[in-house]
Amino acid sequence: MKHLFPTYKRFPFELVKGNGVTLTDNNGKQYLDLTAGIGVCNLGYNTAPIKAAVKDQLDKIWHTSNLYESSLQEKVAALLVKNEAKDVYFCNSGTEANEAALKLARKASGKNKVLAFDHSFHGRSYGSLSLTGNAKIKEGFGPLVPNVKFAIYNDPQALTEITSDLAAVILEIIQGEGGVVTGDPAWLKAVAAKCKEEKVLLIIDEVQTGIGRTGTLFAYQHYNLDPDIVTLAKGLANGLPVGAMIGKAELAPAFGPGSHGTTFGGNPLAMASAAAVLKILDHEFLESVQQKSLFLWHYLLKEIQPLELVREVSGKGLMVGIHLKEDIKVEKIITSLQKQGILTLSSRDNTLRLLPPLIITGSELLHAVQIIKSTLANAIISQ
Ligand SMILES: *Cc1c(COP(=O)(O)O)cnc(C)c1O
Repeated sequence: MKHLFPTYKRFPFELVKGNGVTLTDNNGKQYLDLTAGIGVCNLGYNTAPIKAAVKDQLDKIWHTSNLYESSLQEKVAALLVKNEAKDVYFCNSGTEANEAALKLARKASGKNKVLAFDHSFHGRSYGSLSLTGNAKIKEGFGPLVPNVKFAIYNDPQALTEITSDLAAVILEIIQGEGGVVTGDPAWLKAVAAKCKEEKVLLIIDEVQTGIGRTGTLFAYQHYNLDPDIVTLAKGLANGLPVGAMIGKAELAPAFGPGSHGTTFGGNPLAMASAAAVLKILDHEFLESVQQKSLFLWHYLLKEIQPLELVREVSGKGLMVGIHLKEDIKVEKIITSLQKQGILTLSSRDNTLRLLPPLIITGSELLHAVQIIKSTLANAIISQ
């Protein structure tokens, strides 16, 4: 029964059930989940109001083409733009959202060069892969889309690369796949300012950082940035496939009828779920994420950062990277934590990555990080 392309290295168990922040595998073993898929099920599993919204929609209609009006798409778009002069294009993934962003930026600006950053991740289609600063995943697939330059993330030198001949700059506020590298606030602001000055569109990829992950709806809100285009996916529909590109309304003429599209984008089930997600993510909910984060970061800095095996702890909100020294491979820690009933992720550069569902409680977080601490503390001795 081996008929799947071996594109994924899979752990030897299957997750068959989820409730809240607890997952159960095919052997009946339970796990506390610190992955949320990969930052997708931000509101946990089997979440009553989301399930009810999807079930309700399931009984009405699953699919209509985008040839007809969609009040559900309008509803989700309104929840995302909050009265700002912005428009939304719905698709099915982060890759597609970035693909749309690249196309829109080129067409709207009439320019074609783009600046992206080393260690960025924007997807794996030709456009989004071309914007991705990771040579390993591009290997063997060339030639890619031309006219994409790369600069070093957080490097002031990158500012000199932002010149008026660029259509756009694309970046993540925290590089998720790139090792949970947190953007320096002053640098992010300087990049945004230089983009404005040079009339270069700023695209912020919030596929991983958005939808409450860092304690605000979008991570760029921490720094009062004003991106021209924002891309979303992962957490937006809590596990149903969806992507979205939000752009300033002035860009709309470049995306007129027939210019871009997708069969499934804005699917009613995904939209019903997204509307339920965004309704839950109100001010109060986001405050609670910030509170939990404060508590978590206090513990991380006091108890995890000083550990012998740890180089650095990075991230923001409930997006955490624990960078391990080379003495031990992060995969070993992940496997050991699985045995102890905790699911975690890795990221580039031997980093243990935590993206827990945002509904996790403070005591569940404490329980998890205590186990991570003892696992890291004992790892050298036991290997
Ligand atoms: C996951 C991710 C993507 C790609 O999203 P898909 O839904 O897998 O296509 C793009 N950008 C960032 C920042 C991501 O984390």
